[in-house]
Amino acid sequence: MGASLGYVVLSRKYRPKKLDDLIGQDVLTKSIKSAIEQGKMPHAFLFCGIRGVGKTTIARILARCLNCDNGPTSNPCGVCKSCVAMDQDQHLDVLEFDAASRTGVDDIRSVIDSCQYAPVNGKYKIFIIDEVHMLSKSAFNALLKTLEEPPEHVKFVFATTEKNKVPETILSRCVTFQLNQIPDSIIADRVKYICKSESQEIGSEAANLIASEAQGSARDAISLLEQTIMYCGGEKITKAAIVHVLGSSTESDIRNLLQLALLGKDYDALRFCHHLIESSADPYMVFKGLQNSLYKMIVEKTLDKKHEEFSKNTLLYAWQILLNQSQYFNGLVNAYQVLSCSIVIIAKTSQFSGDSQINTEDYTDSDEDYKLNTKQQDLAQKISEIVGEKIKTPHVKKSEIDILGEIKKSFGAVNMSEIDRTLLPKNIDSSDDKDESHDDDSYGSINIANKGYQQQGDEYIASQEEQDQDED
Ligand SMILES: [Zn+2]
Repeated sequence: MGASLGYVVLSRKYRPKKLDDLIGQDVLTKSIKSAIEQGKMPHAFLFCGIRGVGKTTIARILARCLNCDNGPTSNPCGVCKSCVAMDQDQHLDVLEFDAASRTGVDDIRSVIDSCQYAPVNGKYKIFIIDEVHMLSKSAFNALLKTLEEPPEHVKFVFATTEKNKVPETILSRCVTFQLNQIPDSIIADRVKYICKSESQEIGSEAANLIASEAQGSARDAISLLEQTIMYCGGEKITKAAIVHVLGSSTESDIRNLLQLALLGKDYDALRFCHHLIESSADPYMVFKGLQNSLYKMIVEKTLDKKHEEFSKNTLLYAWQILLNQSQYFNGLVNAYQVLSCSIVIIAKTSQFSGDSQINTEDYTDSDEDYKLNTKQQDLAQKISEIVGEKIKTPHVKKSEIDILGEIKKSFGAVNMSEIDRTLLPKNIDSSDDKDESHDDDSYGSINIANKGYQQQGDEYIASQEEQDQDED
C-alpha cells in the first residue's frame, strides 16, 4: 500500500485557502470579511454543520486571515512565511486538535495554560478545536473563564457537527455560524473546475451525478472524483464510469465486508477491506457504504424481521461504532486506518455481543469467551469463501498478532493504540496497555502537553516516516 510519494490528493490540492475560494457559504464569507475589515474580530467562533461542508477548512482560512504577515486581512497573501507555514500545517501559533480524542479536563488545561504565552511567529495564537461538543463537562467548565476574557492575542475557533450538545454557556460566548449543505449545482461547478485544472475531461451529467452522490459535501465530491479519475485512467469521465466506481465498492462487496465484520471474522474482514482499497476504492466511500448498508439492515430487521443471523444488539453496537469512528475522517488521521480499525472493532465487539446484552466493561480480551452459533458459522463460512475467491490469494491462517504486525508495518510508526487495545489479548504485553479502564478519557487519548503541536502535523509526520522507511 502507501500513496505514491509526491502526489497531492485532490482534496488537499484544492482545499480553499481564501474566503473567496469558499463555495456555497456566502453569508459566512461576507460576515467574516466585514469583521476583519472593520477590525472587529470576535475572540471565539463556532462553526456548525454536517461533516464535509468545510468547517475545519473555514477555521484554517480564518487562522490564515489573522496571521498573514499583511493581516488581519480578508485576502491573505499566500506567500509570506506565515501563509506558507499554514499551507504545510506547520504554523507554530495555530494549534488544532480534535476534541473527540481529547475530551478531558487536563487537555483543556494545557490549552488554557499555553494561552498566557505570546505567539511565536504570528500575531495571534489560534486554537482550533474540532468536534468541540465531545469535550467533557469539566473540560467545558475549565474553558469558560478563558473563553470569557481570553488574552488579546488568543482566538478560539470551534467546529461541531452537533451544536445541540454544546453547552449554552459556551454558545453564548461564541459567534456562531450555521454552515449550509452546499447545493448540488455549486458542487457540480466545482467538480468541473477541478477537472479543467487537471486537464481531465468530464461530461455534465457525470459532474451532476458526483454532486448528488456527495449530498452537500464538497469533500465527498472531490473524493469520489479522485477515485473516478483513477478508474478512468486519462479517459473522459462518464456517468457510466461513476456508476461503476460507486457500484464496484458499494453493493455486494460492501455487504460482504459488513457481514464478515458482524460475524466477528476480523481476519477475513480486514483482509477483504485491504483488497478493496488496493482495488482503488476510497476508504471513506467504503465507510459510508458500510453505514448505509448497516442502516438498511437495522430497518429491515426491525420492520421485516429479516437478518435473523444477527441480534439487534450486534447491529446497534456496530452502528454506534461507525458513528463514533466517523468523526476521525477529519484529515488528521489516515482514512484507511480509520476504516480498518472500525471493521476490527465491529468484529471484536460482535464476537462478544451475540444475543446476550453486552457490557463493554464486562468483556475480556480472551478468545475463549465467545462462540458463534451454528447459523452464524455457516454464513461466515460462505462469505469467507466468496471473499477468499475474490482476493485469490492462498488463505493462510494467521494469528491476530501477525495481522497487527502487518498493519503496523504497512503504515509505519503511527499511533495504533486503538488497534492494540482491540486486538491484543491480555497476555501480550503492550507498552501503553497497562490501564485497562474504558472511560472516555483513556480511549485513544493523546497527551496534549507533549503532542499539542505534532497532532496537526500527524499526516505530514506519518508520510515522512513512510518516506524514511522507503528510503531504507
Ligand atoms: Zn501571508
